Amino acid sequence: MSREISLSDSSCAIILTPDPHTFSNYTAIEIKHLHIDLAVDFDRQVLSGKVELNLRRKDTHAPLILDTRSLKIEDVYLGADRAEGQWSFGEEDVILGKALTIKLRPEDDKVEIAYSTHANASGLQWLTPLQTLGGKKPYLFSVSEAIHARSWMPIQDTPASRFTYSARISVPPQLQLLALMSAKNPKKRNLKTGVYRFKMNRPIPAYLISLTVADLRFRPLGPTNGIYGEKEIVDIASWEFADTEKMISAAEQIAGPYTDLWDRFDLLIMPPSFPYGGMENPTLTYVSPSVIAQDRSLVSIIAHELAHSWSGNLVTNATWNQFFLNEGLTRYFEFLIMESIDGNRRNADMNRVLSYQRLKEHLNAVDPLDPDTRLVMDLSNRDPELSVGAIAYEKGYLFFQSLEDVLGRKAFLEFLRSYLKTFSFQSVTADKLIAHLQAKVIQGDKELESRLNLDEWLYKPGLPKAHPVIRSEEFEKVSTQLSRFIKSHDAEEIDTQGWNTLHWVAFLKSLPLHIGKPALVGLDKKFGFTQIKNAEILSPWFVLAVENSYSETYPSIKSFLLEAGRIKLIKPVYVALTHTPESLQWAREVFANAKPRYHPATQSVISAILK
Ligand SMILES: [Zn+2]
Repeated sequence: MSREISLSDSSCAIILTPDPHTFSNYTAIEIKHLHIDLAVDFDRQVLSGKVELNLRRKDTHAPLILDTRSLKIEDVYLGADRAEGQWSFGEEDVILGKALTIKLRPEDDKVEIAYSTHANASGLQWLTPLQTLGGKKPYLFSVSEAIHARSWMPIQDTPASRFTYSARISVPPQLQLLALMSAKNPKKRNLKTGVYRFKMNRPIPAYLISLTVADLRFRPLGPTNGIYGEKEIVDIASWEFADTEKMISAAEQIAGPYTDLWDRFDLLIMPPSFPYGGMENPTLTYVSPSVIAQDRSLVSIIAHELAHSWSGNLVTNATWNQFFLNEGLTRYFEFLIMESIDGNRRNADMNRVLSYQRLKEHLNAVDPLDPDTRLVMDLSNRDPELSVGAIAYEKGYLFFQSLEDVLGRKAFLEFLRSYLKTFSFQSVTADKLIAHLQAKVIQGDKELESRLNLDEWLYKPGLPKAHPVIRSEEFEKVSTQLSRFIKSHDAEEIDTQGWNTLHWVAFLKSLPLHIGKPALVGLDKKFGFTQIKNAEILSPWFVLAVENSYSETYPSIKSFLLEAGRIKLIKPVYVALTHTPESLQWAREVFANAKPRYHPATQSVISAILK
């Protein structure tokens, strides 16, 4: 369903498109190809240069309207003759930024825009040498999802618009840094000129365009995959993610050939301030160093980002209101890949139960009729980042799991492959998914349609009564030990043989929040949690430590909050610290020190918690 409203303006009609998070008139004018030509200035922390847009004009009267946020536009040139173009900015919107409107002549199918970014561009993080592992050279990386591409290029910043791109990035040669994008990438630094060229031959949306410039090295893992990272981490990461090739094969069994789509699957290990677990930039997945536990226990993040190569990058949600089409399907797919890698359901089922627990936790904390618990959300006039959470990921997963449960895995996977093939390199809404399900599977079978319960899953708040119930034998073992510990408070009494990170996360998250300090001291003495390297365990452990005033752990909590920057891990600790006036005061002091190291996205989340 698409809804277009014309608003009259003094000179031209502005089309409000079905994506509420873009000013761009992408249905009237398509971008066929984008060329980016930028110079990286680490001293001023700006990118400057130009973009060239090749256009397909469906409406030859419409001006070109692009999204921007804090960009400085220098000049606009039109067509092959590079005629000087007329342009204007619209009113600034806190969430969306500013529309850039460029008048076009009927014959113009090319626009060149010279511009520079602002030092506070929301999609770029400029790290000083001290914020890197090497400590000697600066580091720049972009995060364009959801609507931050517009802070480093004027563009149709909507997942509904797709185009191929090429780029020329020039880096001061004396810094001897490597530049990487979500494209065909170099493996070595260009020490002579510092100029790098890139090509992405597949049409992708703006949020999947990435740029990283840093002192990076490459290590091959297999014929079509490898790892980039600072030299201090690249070898450790190569060991941690050695099974990437196996994951690609497992994913291909489920969804079809990978290299036909994206050529390579390389990983880039990010600096600790990277705010997320991973980011699925095509050909170059970003990975948080927080998943390097040095025991390969957190590699499911790679399965997740790899799954996005199909669910998200190949077939993309057309608006952020339907983020579950990217994230819910990816979760479903991630668990299947892990099941295939392990050769059994043990870890995958633990992950499925943890996913369900996160969903229940979220639903218990909000109004049962909260419209934001619908899979198809309405985030008009609100920040699309609000779609990042348990609904898109975990309720989204459960929806796809329910389709599998009703149809059977074989039939559902057959449908999934047909969905991915039919909508390859397209951006879709839930209506398209449902229409495809109707045509390929339901085919007028009313009884089947009622069992699928699509309307309630997609458009109603909360959770349908008939939802998949996932059992995990491993978690039942955890429950037994948990009851024992809650009764005795004695760490010596529990049997944790064979436990991995997932068991511990489930155990720590299920402990009563105010179990008391002596119980925690006992656990710490036996299992050494405070000294552990595994951030997934540290996060729930530090929440318990704070809630029970286990003050001896505070120096470690402080180091954790200063070093880590992944929102999912540090946010619960900051939230726990707000529960007493003293700890809140302490948290504010820690945050004041940590803030300059955090990514802008992390800064705004934590500022809101501590305000
Ligand atoms: Zn994801």
